[in-house]
Amino acid sequence: LFVSFEGPEGAGKSTQLARLAARLDSHGTPHRLTREPGGTPLGTRVREVLLDPALTIDPLPEFLLYSASRAQLVANEIRPALNRGEVVVCDRYADSSLAYQGAGRGLPVNLLREITLAATDGLTPDLTVLLDLDPVVGLERAARRGHPDRLEQADLDFHRRVRAGFLHLAEQTPARFLVLDATRPADDLSNAIWQAVQALLP
Ligand code: C5P
Repeated sequence: LFVSFEGPEGAGKSTQLARLAARLDSHGTPHRLTREPGGTPLGTRVREVLLDPALTIDPLPEFLLYSASRAQLVANEIRPALNRGEVVVCDRYADSSLAYQGAGRGLPVNLLREITLAATDGLTPDLTVLLDLDPVVGLERAARRGHPDRLEQADLDFHRRVRAGFLHLAEQTPARFLVLDATRPADDLSNAIWQAVQALLP
């Protein structure tokens, strides 16, 4: 079972990921928590480059860097864990690229889909939890954490396009998406997420 989490900065992804991991633990379900960009030694290095506020990165190379991290992660971490029968929970996955580099940066969706297909070897999550949030609220929450990364400095219109991109993806593939209002109390959210995950457990 492959579960991805998506959503903007400040949506509470980290909290919900940790809660899901704890529930899987107490359920005795072997699982692997990972994230992108990151999750492998290569991915961690790529993440540092991508989030460096001092760098200017054009949309296409940005997407290709995310794709490089993703390809390594799928081949070295996600596939092997799934083959061992573990539940894999990933903090962001290909939908982030379609939303950020596609809807946000305006790269052609066909190109993104083709390269993503190659990078992931066609691996798609069974369930994608989208923590949906107004970017005004999200950026405010993220700013309170301090140290804005490269993306958090982008303008509000960009983040509005990203949000619309995520919601559009969810509309296109409703069977895979669980869309949750990220302003709901954390307990409500974690219960809803656990219900959806549990329904898919063998
Ligand atoms: O939320 P997280 O810390 O995982 O995201 C790292 C940063 O990378 C965020 O600013 C997010 O908006 C950005 N990102 C992106 N394109 C992706 C994945 C993440 O711009 N495909």
